[in-house]
Amino acid sequence: MRKLTGDTLLVATHNAGKLAEIADLLRPYGIKVVGAAERNLPEPDETETNFVGNARIKAHAAAQATGLPALSDDSGIEIDALNGAPGVYTADWAETSKGRDFAMAMTKAHDRLVASGVPAPWAARFCCTLVLAWPDGHDEVFPGTVEGQVTWPMRGTHGHGYDPIFQPHGYEISFAQMDPAEKNLISHRADAFSRLVKGCFD
Ligand code: IMP
Repeated sequence: MRKLTGDTLLVATHNAGKLAEIADLLRPYGIKVVGAAERNLPEPDETETNFVGNARIKAHAAAQATGLPALSDDSGIEIDALNGAPGVYTADWAETSKGRDFAMAMTKAHDRLVASGVPAPWAARFCCTLVLAWPDGHDEVFPGTVEGQVTWPMRGTHGHGYDPIFQPHGYEISFAQMDPAEKNLISHRADAFSRLVKGCFD
């Protein structure tokens, strides 16, 4: 597995919530993080039907455009009673003509769960795939998950995306009610990060 040399990593996301989480996770390793928006990078179309494919598109586009190693994250929530939906379309469920509306997306997930007739608890997991790509086209792939359930109504104000309706296993509170530092210890992104650190940073 290829090691990361140098101290600067381009993080290939335009999502401020994700960038903040990734910067927190990388801080202990003394790595300087540069966001995609800071470099005015375009957002490539995510045309693949799985997390790995879309993460690869984003990481390689950013590495080619900047000449820096680039880290991307493709993530989403899989809800068992909805046959894994929204999955790779997690962000798409929030799209409106005026930007992303996650309250609408979470309501859509809950409406579909009620319509499915499947009783709660509604098993679900957040999935994250990290891809570290180099300008020469090499990449390394790291998956991560956190198991839990979808709960209703929305609870909490921390975090981002679908955090208010996700309760991780072993907790009575949602991700959005959890201290961000605690979420960073158990999240799907933390799981993928520990594999990345073991593989490329040590
Ligand atoms: P992506 O930018 O295509 O990877 O979109 C992933 C979507 O999944 C985001 O827009 C969020 O809505 C959702 N998501 C991913 N990770 C989290 C998380 O940690 N909490 C809440 N929502 C998340």
